[in-house]
Amino acid sequence: MAEVLRNNLLSMDRAALEAYFERLGEKPFRARQVMKWVYHQGETDFSAMTDLSKALREKLAATAEVRPPRVIADQLSRDGTRKWLMRVDAGNSVETVFIPEEGRGTLCISSQVGCALDCQFCATAEQGFNRNLDVAEILGQIWHADRLLGRDENGNRRLTNIVLMGMGEPLANFRNVLPALRVMLDDLGFGFSKRRVTLSTSGVVSNLYRLADEIDVALAVSLHAPVDEIRDEIVPINRKWPLAELMDACRYYIERHPGRHITWEYVMLDGVNDSEAEARQVAKLLAGIPSKINLIPFNPYPGARYRRSSDARIERFRKVLQDKDFLVITRKTRGDDIDAACGQLAGEVQDRSRRQERRAAARAEAVS
Ligand code: SAH
Repeated sequence: MAEVLRNNLLSMDRAALEAYFERLGEKPFRARQVMKWVYHQGETDFSAMTDLSKALREKLAATAEVRPPRVIADQLSRDGTRKWLMRVDAGNSVETVFIPEEGRGTLCISSQVGCALDCQFCATAEQGFNRNLDVAEILGQIWHADRLLGRDENGNRRLTNIVLMGMGEPLANFRNVLPALRVMLDDLGFGFSKRRVTLSTSGVVSNLYRLADEIDVALAVSLHAPVDEIRDEIVPINRKWPLAELMDACRYYIERHPGRHITWEYVMLDGVNDSEAEARQVAKLLAGIPSKINLIPFNPYPGARYRRSSDARIERFRKVLQDKDFLVITRKTRGDDIDAACGQLAGEVQDRSRRQERRAAARAEAVS
């Protein structure tokens, strides 16, 4: 049977969906009815959307679809963290992680198949890069998780927070991430509060300005080092946009969203970025910016070149910052028994950047 090319409604934010319905000769409020079915009820079958006319249901069935990626694996950690592998095309899959905590449930979603940035301590970087996820593939992760997790005893969603901290660099896929963020915040979409949707970036500065101008969500920045000398090495995008430029963009974000703070992520790598002197440099760098600092003990993965800082060293680093009145939290490692912790996500990536190949060659070289 010939495959019909259908419009995937999961790929449209409200404005795009209304425009699509207008092209079908329908009123915009029909688009809003359909959004409620899709995002509030988790419905994909148009024939079940009983408040639409039969004619419209048939028209939709012929031309449109609600198609999230396919869930191909579902793993549960000892600590309750849950990880799904979602197939996005024949050779590629991404991972999505649910982290339950007292009073909240956070879903960590992916924005790209692999990652083109080359952060030296990250398993996703090892995988290389294939492509951007489209809007439906980003939203489809939330759509699945919401359905699979079900509701709590009070009928509430188990998902309360979304973090774009999975595979990929969200600001390198701004074109698709922006409409997806809109649906996350839209009351007719998932309806998350803007304080509970966090985008994490390693510092794609050009698009950080666009983000600040276009939408209000929480921002996390992967700082990882207080000086260019170290950051150039471990977060290579720093060579393109050095710290001074990143900090200017962050100040701009705060200017555009008064009352907000920035969450700074800082991976603790033994002997690389974790001295007390470096903690003092971090304090100096962040002075005057409303900040929370999240120390992330390094999570190992096969082939990793770094070691996690000792608990004592992390604690000393934390203390220096805390004494300078920063709010500092050491992120608890979650889901590491199923490789679901920060920096451990790998999925299945048909590497088009040939990074896997080059890395393997470099390793072979080093031992020969
Ligand atoms: N590309 C985005 C999203 C990744 S978020 C970004 O860079 O911000 C995941 C966070 O975990 C980032 O701060 C990332 O730098 C950090 N991370 C990556 N690898 C890690 C590892 N092995 N251990 C701990 N944290 C890691």
